[in-house]
Amino acid sequence: MRIIDVLVVGGGASGLQAAITTKTTYPDKEVVLVRKEQQVLIPCGIPYIFGTLSDSSKDILPDKLLTSVGVEIVVDELIEIKVKEHQCVLASNEIIQYTKLILALGSIPTKPAWLKGADLENVFTIPKNKEYLDQVLVALSSLKEVMVIGAGFIGVEVSDELNKKGYKVTLLEIEKTILNRAFDDEFGVLAQEHLQERGVRVITGKGVSEIKGKNGKVSEVVLSTGELLKADAVILSMGYAPNTQVAKEAGIELNDFGFIKTCEYMRVLPCTIDIVAVGDCAEKRDFVTRKIDRTMLASTACAEARTAGMNLYSLSPCKPFTGTIAIYATAIGSHAFGTAGITEAKAMQENFSVICGSFTGMDTHPGNLEHSHKQMVKLIVAS
Ligand SMILES: Cc1cc2nc3c(=O)[nH]c(=O)nc-3n(C[C@H](O)[C@H](O)[C@H](O)COP(=O)(O)OP(=O)(O)OC[C@H]3O[C@@H](n4cnc5c(N)ncnc54)[C@H](O)[C@@H]3O)c2cc1C
Repeated sequence: MRIIDVLVVGGGASGLQAAITTKTTYPDKEVVLVRKEQQVLIPCGIPYIFGTLSDSSKDILPDKLLTSVGVEIVVDELIEIKVKEHQCVLASNEIIQYTKLILALGSIPTKPAWLKGADLENVFTIPKNKEYLDQVLVALSSLKEVMVIGAGFIGVEVSDELNKKGYKVTLLEIEKTILNRAFDDEFGVLAQEHLQERGVRVITGKGVSEIKGKNGKVSEVVLSTGELLKADAVILSMGYAPNTQVAKEAGIELNDFGFIKTCEYMRVLPCTIDIVAVGDCAEKRDFVTRKIDRTMLASTACAEARTAGMNLYSLSPCKPFTGTIAIYATAIGSHAFGTAGITEAKAMQENFSVICGSFTGMDTHPGNLEHSHKQMVKLIVAS
């Protein structure tokens, strides 16, 4: 059995940031990071491996970020947490005894159990897994028509990138506009127009009800209206679920959405001072609505990780994590879309008293200067 000070499980954004913060805050502590994969992908770049980057090896998080501050990386899998004993059992049978444990287990793509045909050949998801995505790229290279289901940021970016590569792409969204969790309808409509101008077929207000196959491979997608659309491949971009089974089995409490319950210092509940959870596996609270939420972002993951690292051995009341502000940005061609906070529709739904103001104009004065851009800005302000 190996005895160490701090064990971080997970090599994504939150594990990386938690390990670096811990090691730089407590340089005398031995910090070991265990992760499943040899190479970690930068998630924000994953959609671009389908087009602009063409190759996942151009989207790797450098290990040097960890090793240069003295964090040791172990490639292995956590299979059991013995909370009382302060021990973690790894798939290699190694047992690590820790003083502090940081769970940064991340999330996995959702493949709805109700979706008939979801297990056919050429139905893919977008996990943060290099080996899997490399296989997807190979499989796609002999196919032509791709249906992407779910038009959040990931679905939109993947569709645009596949379209750039010459695939015939259809993007299907059950809501009436795309990117609807991040933007009010007027922006979703604009984003849809830009995507369509670039060659992506976008269908909104209709869901998927079944994926049909021929010889075990995808051949058609059945929409909620009964329409049949031809497809050689389907990419499910229907959300992510926290990866918390191993924590649940150890008796660590999960909330109704399956996230590990934490306090504002990221300590897991029921309260223990020696285990924290950060990133996509940890409970999220929306900064504005104060409600438990499911928004999973690298920016939030890193903020939580810094909070956990700084408060690991003793708490500072100045450094809690008080909630997630959903911040997104993307580009469709030469048009950039960005947002922070909640939409007007969400504000109305939650019964906030707000004043909204919209502006459309140029981003320079005078507006006919070279490199001027047209911009639309909407502010949703609490009144
Ligand atoms: C395609 C895509 C694009 C995205 N784009 C953006 C973006 O532009 N901006 C943004 O803010 N967010 C983006 N996100 C979200 C962002 O990726 C996540 O919020 C972020 O990765 C969370 O980091 P994490 O460390 O909590 O989890 P993850 O990145 O999921 O990492 C989890 C880690 O835990 C390891 N692990 C899990 N179980 C075990 C185990 N039992 N034993 C050992 N190791 C284990 C995994 O191997 C992995 O290393 C995107 C996500 C995806 C999928």
